[in-house]
Amino acid sequence: MSVPASAVPAFDFTSRLSRRAQTMSASAIREILKVTQRPDVISFAGGLPAPELFPLEDVRRAADAVLTRYGPAALQYSTTEGHPPLREWIAARHGIPAANVQITTGSQQALDLLGKILIDEGDTVLVEAPTYLGALQSFQPYLPTYQEIPTDDEGIDVDALEALLARTSVKVMYVIPNFQNPTGRTLSLDRRRRLVEITARHGVPVIEDDPYGQLTFTGETYPSLYELGLERAGSVEGNHVIYCSSFSKTLVPGLRDAWVQAASPVILKLITAKQGADLHTPTLNQMIITELLPILPRQVDVVKKAYGERAAFMISRLEAEFPEGVAFTRPKGGMFLWVTVPGDIDTTPLLSRAVERKVAYVPGSPFFAHGGGKNTMRLSYTSATPDQIREGIHALAGTLRDALA
Ligand code: PMP
Repeated sequence: MSVPASAVPAFDFTSRLSRRAQTMSASAIREILKVTQRPDVISFAGGLPAPELFPLEDVRRAADAVLTRYGPAALQYSTTEGHPPLREWIAARHGIPAANVQITTGSQQALDLLGKILIDEGDTVLVEAPTYLGALQSFQPYLPTYQEIPTDDEGIDVDALEALLARTSVKVMYVIPNFQNPTGRTLSLDRRRRLVEITARHGVPVIEDDPYGQLTFTGETYPSLYELGLERAGSVEGNHVIYCSSFSKTLVPGLRDAWVQAASPVILKLITAKQGADLHTPTLNQMIITELLPILPRQVDVVKKAYGERAAFMISRLEAEFPEGVAFTRPKGGMFLWVTVPGDIDTTPLLSRAVERKVAYVPGSPFFAHGGGKNTMRLSYTSATPDQIREGIHALAGTLRDALA
């Protein structure tokens, strides 16, 4: 059908948008970062797992195996809760009933659905400053009011949290305790215990987002907030922590398989909310992920070794090249590190200077619910070769030196 040249002006959809849609804004960063996809620019801006580490042959074999084993059932609709063997594996690993596990289409969907079932317009949601930009995006359509909790090298400032809870009524708290996106920081054990105790005492549910926990470079791990909540409550149903994790950073992100562990009232509402969103996470994908579980430990070793080496090399170049007064985190796992430059330098306009020198980063400001952090940036070390790290950090150090001069 050919479309006739129309005499009717473009339909005014903008005025028909919901209030919720009107609060959604395309990320300014996304626009800026388009230029950084030029092949001549070394980008530390992306947040993608390293594709050369994906277990391509294992996925091929797993897909073949599940299609043979399940036949058409691998391509059929399936239950909203998730593929039973996958739920059971997750449940057994965490010592909880399978009924307390919900499979989601990425943990990004978990954040959206949790926003949907927990946040009413105007509710106060506590977030770290800075926090994961994608969580702010997921929660925003439910029209929360954000309260930011300051963070330092040990993660959330729990004294500030306690003071805030004493004077403010809070609906829910969102936190990334391990190798946080964007800072790479880890919440200390002592603060984990206090965070769980304080939030339980004030009756504030905690959403713990943990996609990076397994990617530890040192082998050191802390109990999750979920585990501490379980210990404190003595039962799955008494635990006020909702735990989200994902296979995106340990196996592959493209199959979009993740999960939520929580008390039954949360899981039951998630099931209903998920039915409205996508009925279920793709059946074939869940079966493939389940088939890949035996290689998970080996794959986690491969990924954390590679990222650990890349992080160590980037840190050594930052130490060698960055001008005095520029601070950076030294992550012990995960995919990102965080740079803080002296106060009056704004890293957003500085990005075009950096791109002129053929290097890119993500300016830090969008990771703050209320803006701020103008003098910060996030660097990803996952996808760069040693030569790119050496060259890119040299170029970035030059950009910073010029800005500071
Ligand atoms: N939470 C955090 C903290 C993340 O960094 C990411 C991915 N960048 C996600 C959730 C979403 O991950 P996925 O949907 O792939 O599981």
